[in-house]
Amino acid sequence: MVDYWRQGSVAVIAVNNPPVNALSYNVRVGLYNNLDKAANDRDVLAVVICGKGRTFPVGADIHEFGQIPKEPWITDVGRKIESLGKPVIAAIHGTGLGGGLEIALFCHYRIALPNARVGLPEVLIGLLPAGGGAQLLPRLAGIQVAMEMITTGRQLPASEAAKYNIIDKVVSGDIVKEGIEFALRVQNKPFQDKILRYRSPHGKDSLQPITEAVLRKIKMRSRGFYAPVWCVRSIANSVKLPFEEGLAQNRIMFQQMQLSGQAKALQYAFFAERSISKWKLPCGGNFATAVPRKIKTISVIGAGTMGTGITVALLSAGFPVLLVEQNKRFLMKGVQTVQSLLEGGVKRRKFTAEQAKMASSSLTTTVDLQALNSVDLVIEAVFETLSLKEDIFSKLDKICKPEAILCSNTSYLNIDKIAASTRRPDKVVGTHFFSPAHIMRLMENIYGCKTSPETVATVMDLGKRIGKVPVLVGTCPGFCANRMNRPQSEEALFLVEEGAQPEQIDQVLEDFGMPMGPFKVRDLAGGDIGWRSRKDAALHLGLTLSYDLQFFNGERYCSLADKLCELGRFGQKTGSGWYSYDKPGSKQLSIDEDVTKLIQNHRDSLGIKPRKITTQEIQERFLFSGINEGFKILEEGIAARPEDIDIIWLYGFGFPRHYGGPMFYASQIGLKRVYDRICHYHELFPYSSHWMPSKLLQKLSIQEVPIGQWAELHSKL
Ligand code: NAD
Repeated sequence: MVDYWRQGSVAVIAVNNPPVNALSYNVRVGLYNNLDKAANDRDVLAVVICGKGRTFPVGADIHEFGQIPKEPWITDVGRKIESLGKPVIAAIHGTGLGGGLEIALFCHYRIALPNARVGLPEVLIGLLPAGGGAQLLPRLAGIQVAMEMITTGRQLPASEAAKYNIIDKVVSGDIVKEGIEFALRVQNKPFQDKILRYRSPHGKDSLQPITEAVLRKIKMRSRGFYAPVWCVRSIANSVKLPFEEGLAQNRIMFQQMQLSGQAKALQYAFFAERSISKWKLPCGGNFATAVPRKIKTISVIGAGTMGTGITVALLSAGFPVLLVEQNKRFLMKGVQTVQSLLEGGVKRRKFTAEQAKMASSSLTTTVDLQALNSVDLVIEAVFETLSLKEDIFSKLDKICKPEAILCSNTSYLNIDKIAASTRRPDKVVGTHFFSPAHIMRLMENIYGCKTSPETVATVMDLGKRIGKVPVLVGTCPGFCANRMNRPQSEEALFLVEEGAQPEQIDQVLEDFGMPMGPFKVRDLAGGDIGWRSRKDAALHLGLTLSYDLQFFNGERYCSLADKLCELGRFGQKTGSGWYSYDKPGSKQLSIDEDVTKLIQNHRDSLGIKPRKITTQEIQERFLFSGINEGFKILEEGIAARPEDIDIIWLYGFGFPRHYGGPMFYASQIGLKRVYDRICHYHELFPYSSHWMPSKLLQKLSIQEVPIGQWAELHSKL
């Protein structure tokens, strides 16, 4: 696992633990023993530590997560380096992360290739860099840089790392050869001042103001997430305590953090994210056997909000796109939007002006569906009307080449119905992007009963190639994401009807860690779309939406959102919605007395006496209604595993990652408690069928089955 060879007076110690040279127990032993070997060889005057294959070590072995690492620890390897009596050079290519960077920090010198990256990402799995990182980095790069790097887990490119002295030299060519050359240059020179433990941290006199500023940022960025705060403390130890004592304190904190629910949740999310690519269809096709089709040309139909965002996502990943609209006016508007989104990407430094220009030159347009006769894949993003989509798919079926794959970006509609309008249902699939589609990373892919494994493999592969997080689910109204979100949105309205204020609900859920409360989300998305579809649904049933409507289709109903829309309060875009805004399109919001009065009048007209609603009730009714739906989704096989649901929530709705996702959150609270509370609300609100407890949840709650066994047990229950 660790190779050793000598080239003249230089010993090379190369970690050889594919695929990422993780610092597992055997690697640490190998490093330790080979350092001894170099120390005892009198002909060795300098040592190079590097990684074989594609990278320098990237940190701990994920298979050892959650266990107490066996000795030698990284700090033991580090002490060996420091006391070797010969200069040790870390030669970094690929990524030097976590324990990898810590070992490099114990070295006397660090060189790196220009495209190498370094970082201490432990915070992202709820931990701190206890292998010396939090003690060494402030002594090398200063408190300010260490705070930023360690509390965010950000990876720095070699050039930036060199600016902060983390890298001594950026070199090009073969990293081992460069390491040896560097070693030959420094081998007989003094290097004691390069041992970081003897330095004092830069900026130590400003520890307090730096800490306060960082804590303020953390509070804004990641409410309720403890690890960054502990990371701040671990860095402060580098100033407050002698080196060895700081190391010992940080190790104690690390062990406490390892046991915390947040670290467990983050590690669960880490593995969940890796598991979603291992999809399986009920027909037996799966990721291992299905081969994706080669996709070179893509067409997007509909240049509205979603079509333009999807186009930008495809163009920026290097795909040529043929954009289609129903007429030239809408097409021109769409092209303008695409251009301004690309310009926005340059401003956000997502890509360079040159790349944006290239992307833009790969865009072609048409108002004639016939032009799609040679594309490999089509993504339809027209209005959410089944008949329109059926019409377009039946035309596409006739126009497109037989092997072309036809995707729909529908949010709710049945994929099987759309597929039935073609003679190629095996090549029809849902690709549900989230708004804004050029930024949001979730791609909820939906298979129909006839979708082929090859088609699924192709869209899963496409998702990855355009930098999205593709998750596969089955078809049902709203699929996984919107189906779970629906009861939550309804509960938010009912809570207002019963006595809560919209801003109170938003605050509670933002304090929980959601990026935005449900009323701010409604204002951002625009209330008019939902209002129109509710009016259409009512019409379909021979009803009209009236203000005193308390039941709709046998379900509890709240007409408050309709009342706002009736007043033209569609949200941010009209300058008023649940909040009022400076001007149309502005994000600057304030609480609006008119909305408060409207809510009060609504309650009065229905004879509802407002009651005090607690934080606990808001959290439970919002989160548990969605979780109950999540268990039904699992029960029906719409999602194959809880991990799929959780990743959908992490990437589609910004559910706080330190809770793992709604399903993992439920497992941490305890399924029995979640089930009991759902039964309680079901008793209180019998006219909201979303409170009907999931049978799967009931069964799993009896034995408190751990989340890793839900999917397996479900198939046996
Ligand atoms: P939109 O109204 O902004 O855009 C739809 C576009 O389709 C319009 O520009 C319209 O002119 C065009 N169009 C209509 N008929 C056409 C035809 N026959 N040929 C070519 N173009 C045609 O709608 P949107 O918000 O972009 O939604 C599009 C789809 O994406 C819907 O199915 C919606 O449910 C889904 N979706 C929307 C969101 C969202 O947040 N807006 C999120 C996920 C999915």
